[in-house]
Amino acid sequence: MLGLMQDKPLMISSIITHAARHHARAEVVSKTVEGAIHRSTYGEIERRARRLVRVLQRLDIGPSDRVATLAWNGFRHLELYYAISGMGAVCHTINPRLSADDIAFIANDAGDQVIFADTTFAPLIAAVAPAVRASVRAVVFMTERAHMPDIALPEGMDLLCYEELMAAADEDFAWPAFDERTAASLCYTSGTTGRPKGVLYSHRSTLLHAYALNMPDVFALRAVDRVLPVVPMFHVNAWGTPYAAPMVGASLIMPGRHLDGASLTQLMNEERVTISAGVPTVWLGLLAHLRASGQRLETVERFVIGGSACPRLLFEAFDKEYGIRVDHAWGMSELSPLGTYNTPTPGNQNLTGEALMRRREKQGRSLFGVDIRIIDDAGRELPWDGATSGHLQARGYWVCSSYFGGTPGDALDAEGWFSTGDVATIDAEGNMEITDRSKDVIKSGGEWISSIQLENIAVSHPDVAEAAIIAATHPKWDERPLLLVVARQGRTIDRDSVLRVYEGRVAKWWVPDDVVVVDELPHTATGKIQKLALREAWRGHLLAKG
Ligand code: ADP
Repeated sequence: MLGLMQDKPLMISSIITHAARHHARAEVVSKTVEGAIHRSTYGEIERRARRLVRVLQRLDIGPSDRVATLAWNGFRHLELYYAISGMGAVCHTINPRLSADDIAFIANDAGDQVIFADTTFAPLIAAVAPAVRASVRAVVFMTERAHMPDIALPEGMDLLCYEELMAAADEDFAWPAFDERTAASLCYTSGTTGRPKGVLYSHRSTLLHAYALNMPDVFALRAVDRVLPVVPMFHVNAWGTPYAAPMVGASLIMPGRHLDGASLTQLMNEERVTISAGVPTVWLGLLAHLRASGQRLETVERFVIGGSACPRLLFEAFDKEYGIRVDHAWGMSELSPLGTYNTPTPGNQNLTGEALMRRREKQGRSLFGVDIRIIDDAGRELPWDGATSGHLQARGYWVCSSYFGGTPGDALDAEGWFSTGDVATIDAEGNMEITDRSKDVIKSGGEWISSIQLENIAVSHPDVAEAAIIAATHPKWDERPLLLVVARQGRTIDRDSVLRVYEGRVAKWWVPDDVVVVDELPHTATGKIQKLALREAWRGHLLAKG
């Protein structure tokens, strides 16, 4: 017997129609690439998204077609999110920090037909256009006529202006309902190993993920919140905030292209931001600015930090000096991205001092909707004792089943688990802690050493700005940890003083064998350290040293 409740498919358009009807005056504030602040509301975004569907139809976009964006966080990007998926097409957000070569590969792999771009990316578009002419028919710059860049596109590729197209369109479109499993957006992994792969989210997975974000032990957005996603809309859908915020009527503050400490401080104070989310690098920059300028963040209550391990310094500094709670989260493109979030349980809510800090450094508990486990090399599940580490797997409502172009299920094992490529421990409270990427793990005399833990300790040294631990080949132990560090501006690094920070904090045999000071560390397009390149360059260091 089937239940007798309304059978409504989970549609992304229902988020923006809800926001427009019940939170019509909640704001969408954008720092535009031209510099001015633009103010909009969910009511206006929904109306303009309907108009934008008519524009897309005029450009011959239909269901399942891929439409690319190359853009910062802003109101037009939000309109595109809702218009493209709402009409049944696929919003493909491209990371502009990738090389022109990678962007061309991704656009061709996705079969993008139209690219919507911020004017800042005009030179990038000019560089990429010849290589994507087989599938891309038009480039639309997300601006008014007066700010249109003057670039030459290959023959047959149109150069169009967003606001001109919008002015010529009607807003009479009615949002359709269709199969909730329909593809809604496409996002490529940053390709730290090999070529980027596309993760194809559905309406259903996106909606359930947004619901989960709003649970009380997760992002817990409220109608009175003013949310500033520093995490870009081209990086795993800004972690779902463009869906989770309108779902509850929280206002969205879109920072555009300037993500430095001074710009963020100004925007957060002027727009009375209450919660913000982003990767550790951004918050380190913001912290440095606050300390140097003496400025305060007047209204911010909480930062969500993820994407890389959150250094202890950020928990301590924001808590103690600025009264801002820092929440640690973990996820990946293949998980939409959110998998775990760190909030207390009855079993650990009364911890203090070092024990509390250790709890907060962990990546957190699985949300309802995503199950996790750790396994050994033979595929056997490992105990949740907070010490045994193994390969981390996940499965659930918003975990990928295959990559773009693949067959459903081909990215999973026989029991339906997706291997994250991370190595982790899970403690008795269900708190997961990432110790490494599988490919970065250091195996010294057969035992695993966590590079992430060693890196976190290294950056607690006052002279160290950034640190990377890699596995260096060792004649006796196979591999030993080698520490590469970049000095803070105006400081010099003393090897022995850096090694002293490990005393009492890790087992003696975990302490790196050597410290190498470098001018800079290589980064991927999502700001992660490129360990592969470092390993290639430094693997033989201990052998050469003798
Ligand atoms: P990519 O996997 O292509 O680098 P993602 O943005 O999907 O791009 O990154 C996911 C990876 O980032 C995770 O598998 C994990 O290794 C790392 N990561 C994410 N959040 C955290 C965190 N809080 N602590 C440590 N590592 C993290």
